[in-house]
Amino acid sequence: MTSLPLVFDAPKRGLPPKHFADLDAEARVAAVTALGLPKFRAKQLANHYFGRLTGDVAEMTDLPAAKRDEVAAALFPTLMTPLRHIACDDDSTRKTLWRLHDGTLLESVLMRYPERNTLCISSQAGCGMACPFCATGQGGLDRNLSTAEIVDQVRAAARALRDGDLGAPGRLSNIVFMGMGEPLANYRRVVDAVRKITSPSPDGFGISARSVTVSTVGLAPAIRRLADEGLQVTLAVSLHTPDDELRDTLVPVNNRWSVSEVLDAARYYADTTGRRVSIEYALIRDVNDQPWRAEMLGRKLHRALGGLVHVNLIPLNPTPGSQWDASPKPVEAEFVRLVREQGVSCTVRDTRGQEIAAACGQLAAEEK
Ligand code: SAH
Repeated sequence: MTSLPLVFDAPKRGLPPKHFADLDAEARVAAVTALGLPKFRAKQLANHYFGRLTGDVAEMTDLPAAKRDEVAAALFPTLMTPLRHIACDDDSTRKTLWRLHDGTLLESVLMRYPERNTLCISSQAGCGMACPFCATGQGGLDRNLSTAEIVDQVRAAARALRDGDLGAPGRLSNIVFMGMGEPLANYRRVVDAVRKITSPSPDGFGISARSVTVSTVGLAPAIRRLADEGLQVTLAVSLHTPDDELRDTLVPVNNRWSVSEVLDAARYYADTTGRRVSIEYALIRDVNDQPWRAEMLGRKLHRALGGLVHVNLIPLNPTPGSQWDASPKPVEAEFVRLVREQGVSCTVRDTRGQEIAAACGQLAAEEK
């Protein structure tokens, strides 16, 4: 067994009180029984929370009034309070800043598209991975989020969409773990949250696992472990360059698991799940955008993953004070062409939320 780096030793500090969304079906029954309620109340609460997207016990009027306060105190502590919502892109993108019970700040971003509604969620407050181009990486890790803190971001967004808070009422269809944090460094809670996001109601929100993307810096053993969970989620790997020399600085955890180890793990994921793996590549002017890197990227990916891979190029979103910038459009276009020439599919990701600092790696940083 490979020993795991320190970042896996989750800081326990600051985790919120237990919440209904932390519990599995069995624990929910135990929890209501402990409150002196009959078993069927567990399902009723699950229907409220996951089915009707209600987190406030005061709205659960079919619960005995005399018991509501007790249920609220024991199972529905306030996890997150919205500090503000900021919209842009003609109101099709909305960032929400949340304050957690211990004052920690957290953000999630909802993006409406004609054919889908995508929520970008956080798995940790801050991040310990220290990628130099990412604003979150600069601030370090505050703490892991609890399962319920991850799940409640989804509930709140699904509810806002349903209630028409962002234009015509809609349904939340896609989740990407591309907000703050490294999801695989908060492994157990993230997998637990994924199960609650994807389980059919009333055990979960019933969002298709295929529409959930877990994005990682490339913690190889955790990628393999995720492959064996029997989930159908999409894996995204933040590669950012195909060579170890540069990746050691762009994604420092590469010093622990090299490009080839990460690609081997990605291959294992693709083979085990039958799912195509996404490769994230933030294109940085004169840093990782050279034609030879595009060719090397295409070659290595084709060799490691064959047809089971897709490259998402992300124009670098410059963080305040950074000397780096996005690549010029012609360089970007040539990069796409060269990757495709190696038989690997490649597209440029659209960049939502730039003027509200809701773009990659900027969540909550400016609030501190
Ligand atoms: N820790 C995870 C998920 C969070 S970041 C991961 O690294 O995959 C989601 C994606 O945004 C990652 O690919 C990350 O490298 C990228 N990203 C971070 N900051 C960025 C920036 N300033 N410009 C472009 N992409 C960025």
